[in-house]
Amino acid sequence: MFKFLMKLISSGQMKFSSGQISLLGQYVNIMPTSYFVGLTKYHLKNQKKDPNSISKLYLMGWVTASDYMKRFEEVYDVKGFVERYRLGMDVVSMAGFGDYKTIEWKDGSLSYVYTINNPLPKFFYPSKEPVDHILRGVTAGGGYIVHHNLVQCVEETCAAVTGLDKCVLINATEKEFGNLNKEDLLASQVDLDFIVPRQKEVLRGLKKKKEGFDIWEILLD
Ligand SMILES: [Zn+2]
Repeated sequence: MFKFLMKLISSGQMKFSSGQISLLGQYVNIMPTSYFVGLTKYHLKNQKKDPNSISKLYLMGWVTASDYMKRFEEVYDVKGFVERYRLGMDVVSMAGFGDYKTIEWKDGSLSYVYTINNPLPKFFYPSKEPVDHILRGVTAGGGYIVHHNLVQCVEETCAAVTGLDKCVLINATEKEFGNLNKEDLLASQVDLDFIVPRQKEVLRGLKKKKEGFDIWEILLD
């Protein structure tokens, strides 16, 4: 991860200028984890008023990460699943949500991974439920580019619940969740009826690049 970051800076793909940081031509902010903790707490609380609040948080992570990962795919001109997967692991490990390791992968349908030392869940321990909704959305968004297929992400175990250093994530197509007999886990964390139509509408809109097309209006409506 450190080597990858150094490569980005030395090649000028990550630039620091007065008041601005850019990465692959996109502005980025370096924010303390407490910001993401606050955002997660807000959406957990707001879920009582708006049953789609957590889904919206997931979708924000999804759309941001898929765009972010797409830029890396284009700039690095990666070919084939293995190259894309390796690049995806480097990119996500650099984001500060822990160090990503693979349990199992399948081209086009599955990344079964864990992340070590993810700081966010430590703010929530002890929790009855997994809390990494932003990370799930981010992983599913990056996974869309890596797998060239729509995938969704669930936490099989979360450090906020276990108190350990590890969160285990399954990032897979709906069909693959079925093969793993994990449909119930998928249904408990991903509201497919709310999320999938919005993801598809965004992808259609991005393809057509219609005038006045607003991603956030679709995702957060
Ligand atoms: Zn977690």
